[in-house]
Amino acid sequence: MKKVAFIGLGVMGYPMAGHLQSSGFDVCVYNRTTAKAEQWVKEFGGSLALTPKEAATGCDIAFSCVGNDNDVRQVVLGDDGILAGLSIGATLVDHTTASAELARDLYALAELQNKHFVDAPVSGGQAGAENGALTIMAGGEADIFEQVQPVMAAYARFSQLMGKVGSGQLAKMVNQICFVNAVQGLAEGLNFAQKAGLDTDKLIETISKGAAGSWQMDNRGKTMCAREFDFGFAVDWVRKDLAMAFNEAEKIGADLTITKQLDGYYEEVQQKGGNRWDTSSLIARLDD
Ligand code: NAP
Repeated sequence: MKKVAFIGLGVMGYPMAGHLQSSGFDVCVYNRTTAKAEQWVKEFGGSLALTPKEAATGCDIAFSCVGNDNDVRQVVLGDDGILAGLSIGATLVDHTTASAELARDLYALAELQNKHFVDAPVSGGQAGAENGALTIMAGGEADIFEQVQPVMAAYARFSQLMGKVGSGQLAKMVNQICFVNAVQGLAEGLNFAQKAGLDTDKLIETISKGAAGSWQMDNRGKTMCAREFDFGFAVDWVRKDLAMAFNEAEKIGADLTITKQLDGYYEEVQQKGGNRWDTSSLIARLDD
C-alpha cells in the first residue's frame, strides 16, 4: 500500500484526503486544528500526525492544500515542515491556489534536497472535491507528474501537465480571469431580464441552449436570480486569486483592464458584507 500524506483538511482537503484513503492508499493527515484531523481519522481510517514533518516522513508523496502563499510556506518550510520529513526522491504536490513564484521557489528548494515538487491547483469547488471530480492543472517535470497523476485520480476527473513548474498556477489564473468575466456577463443579463419583467426560468431554459449558454448559466443562473449565494467558492478567495493574476500580468505585460474592474466590483460586494458569499454574488451590487 502506497504511503501518502495530506496536509490541510479544509473544505477541499478533507474530502480529497478521504478519497485517497478510500482508494486504498495509506494516508497520514496533518491539520493545524487537530480536532479536524481526529474527525477525519474517525471517518476514513488512516492516521494523523501532529506536525507536517511527521505526516510526510516515510511517504512517497505529500499533498498540501492550505490557504495562500504564506500558509504554504508555513507548512512546507522550517524544522517541522513537509520538506524536512520527505525522503530523498519523494514528491510534494501542492494543491493550494498560490503564486507561480512560490511554486518556482519551492521547486528549487526541493531540488537542492533531491526531492521533487509539483504545483497542482484545482478547479471544481467543494462539490468537485466531494465527488472526486476535480480538474487539476499542474506544473513540473513530466516523469514526476506521471508518477503522481494516477494517485491524484482518486479525486480528479481530469489532470493535465501544463508545462514547467509554475505553469499549473498560471493556468489557474487564466481559469479565474475567464470565469469572473463570465459571471459578470450573466449578472448584467439576468438583472436586465428581471428589470424587463421576463420569466427568468423560461429565459434560462431557452438561451442556455445557444451561444450565450455557459456552466455559470446552467449552475448559477437560477440561484443568482433568487439572490442565493451559498454555493462554495467565496468572494475573499477569488480576490486573493485575482491579486496573484494582476501581479503576474504586470510581469508579462498582459492587459487585464476589465478583470481589474470586476475585482473592484467584488470589493463592493465585500463592503455589502459578502466576504463569504460565493462568486456569483456580483449580481447583488446591481440591486443598489
Ligand atoms: P479552507 O476550508 O479555509 O481550509 C484551509 C485549510 O488550510 C485548513 O485545513 C486550515 O487549517 C489550513 N491552513 C490555513 N492556513 C494554515 C497555516 N498557516 N498553517 C497550517 N494550516 C493552515 O480552504 P479551502 O476552501 O479548502 O481552500 C484551500 C485552497 O484551495 C485555497 O488555496 C483555495 O483558494 C483553493 N480552492 C478552493 C476552492 C473552493 O471552492 N473552496 C476551489 C478551488 C481551489 P485549520 O483547519 O486549522 O484552519
